[in-house]
Amino acid sequence: MEQRKVLLTGGNLLQAHTWKGLLESSGISVDVRGEALMGGVGELPVDMQTVELWVDCEQLTASQALLASLDVEQPSWQCVQCHEMNDGSFELCWQCTSPRSETHN
Ligand SMILES: [Zn+2]
Repeated sequence: MEQRKVLLTGGNLLQAHTWKGLLESSGISVDVRGEALMGGVGELPVDMQTVELWVDCEQLTASQALLASLDVEQPSWQCVQCHEMNDGSFELCWQCTSPRSETHN
């Protein structure tokens, strides 16, 4: 008997596996479904690449909270050199390659 729910549905397999790894490192079992749709065919259009993350329904709330906290941990940051906004996952300014600073705006 399966007691699982869809945590999220997205079209990005790489992102799905990143989340899966993060959740599983926190002890949450994750199934990634939908990969079979694109397995090795290479002819499917991008918008067919529906990926679903499934978790145990008892862990759904914790999973959602974890994903939310992951977003919070990586806010965008503004370069102090050129004032460009950078994605939270960048350690260097994409424009001028200055190191990330603690200054946030
Ligand atoms: Zn910069």
